[in-house]
This record gives sequence, structure tokens and C-alpha cells, in this order.
Amino acid sequence: MGRKFFVGGNWKCNGTNEEIKKIVSTLNDRQVPSSDVVEVVISPPYVFLPLVKSLLHPDFHVAVQNCWVKKGGAFTGEISAEMLKNLDIHWVILGHSERRLLLGESNEFVGEKVAYALSQGLKVIACVGETLEQRESGATMDVVAAQTKAIADRISDWTNVVVAYEPVWAIGTGKVATPAQAQEVHFALRKWLQTNVSAQVAESTRIIYGGSVNGANCKELAAQPDVDGFLVGGASLKAEFLDIIKSAT
Ligand code: PGA
Repeated sequence: MGRKFFVGGNWKCNGTNEEIKKIVSTLNDRQVPSSDVVEVVISPPYVFLPLVKSLLHPDFHVAVQNCWVKKGGAFTGEISAEMLKNLDIHWVILGHSERRLLLGESNEFVGEKVAYALSQGLKVIACVGETLEQRESGATMDVVAAQTKAIADRISDWTNVVVAYEPVWAIGTGKVATPAQAQEVHFALRKWLQTNVSAQVAESTRIIYGGSVNGANCKELAAQPDVDGFLVGGASLKAEFLDIIKSAT
């Protein structure tokens, strides 16, 4: 079976009630390919989850931008996988570079979070990617492999995992990876999965690209054989997000 195109919208720490209602209503007009062709997952800030969940057409899914590494309890400021299930939310973004770099989330911690979220029945968008310095020193694949290994060491079933390759130098900078740069890493990552996990997992796991994706550059990126979709930040708050969803076809 082919890998269904996947488009995630990561709204990060943005939006007001009014703005979010507006974006949701644009999405609900659904001038986009059917959910048989593209899986769309929208990730608002925590406080807007119930609002978005209640307004968004059920063809689209809702994700949270992070969740705690184990069962909830005395962890001030955190939210748990159990709570998300209670809100009927099935997706979580884990290991985003903003959390790795600004909040010090290590590869091991992200791996543990992925394993726990999966064990609770959540589906995970697991982010990996190198910094500019790492790329320039030729360490891209070592970094991405180490981040992926920390996940692979802790899980056995990849069915509910989407891997997002997001080079840090491309996130929010307007400096998108070229289609060839994206394809090179996606191909290497799939090879890594083939060698270190299994041929079946390599073949079926979606590897999506993130970092300055917009309405103008998405088509060419989407045409790369190992690019199975996108994780979109800035442009997911704008009408051009619809064009990005349409790049599935
Ligand atoms: P960007 O963010 O599209 O604004 O570069 C992507 C992301 O951080 O997921």
C-alpha cells in the first residue's frame, strides 16, 4: 500500500480566539483533496484544543504540540497523553527542534515521550533535523540517525509514527531546503530505517518535510519520491495552507 500524503499545520504559540475561528472556517470550506488522498492534522496551542476540536470538520484531525513523558500527576504545566485521549485527540507532535533546543529535550527524552504516547494509543509526528552548524560540518545524517535511533530503541511498532525531517536552519527562516537537499536526507533516513528497523517499516513510514514550506515551493518538494508530505509552521496560519494541502495531488 502506498504512503498516504500527510500535511500537518503547526500553529506553535500563535493565535487568538477570533483568528483561530477564521482559520478553521477557511479549512472547513474544504477546497482540498479528499481525506482518502491526504491526511491533514492541525496543531493549535493547548488552550485552543477544545475550540478547534469542536469547530473543525472531522475530515481533519487535531494534534497537540507536546505531551508529558509518562502518566500525569505532579508535573506542573504539563499535559498528559491520558488527557488528550479524554478530549478525543489522537495526534501529538514530539521532538520539535524548538523544544529540543530551547527547552533542552534530549534525544533520549524525546524517545521516551514517543514510546509513552504510542503506548497510550496516540499517533506521533516525531521531529528530527540538524542545525546549520551540524550541516556545515557534514554531520547531518549522523545527527538525524542518532535522533531516530533514540526512538527506534524504544518502540517496536511504527504504524502510528510519522517522521518529520525539519532542518533547523530552514525553520521559520524563509530558507527552505531545496528539493534535492530534502530528498537526499529523506532517502538516507528511509535507508536507515531499512537497515536498522525493517524493510517494511522503511517502505510504509511516512517521512514528511518541514522548514519554510509555503504555497510556492510545496509542489516541487512534494514531487520528490521520498517526501510524503509536510509539517508547516508559518504558512499553516495563512490561506496558502490550502495550496500546500493540494500539493498532495
Ligand atoms: P516553518 O515551521 O514552516 O514556519 O518554517 C515549520 C515547523 O517548525 O514545523
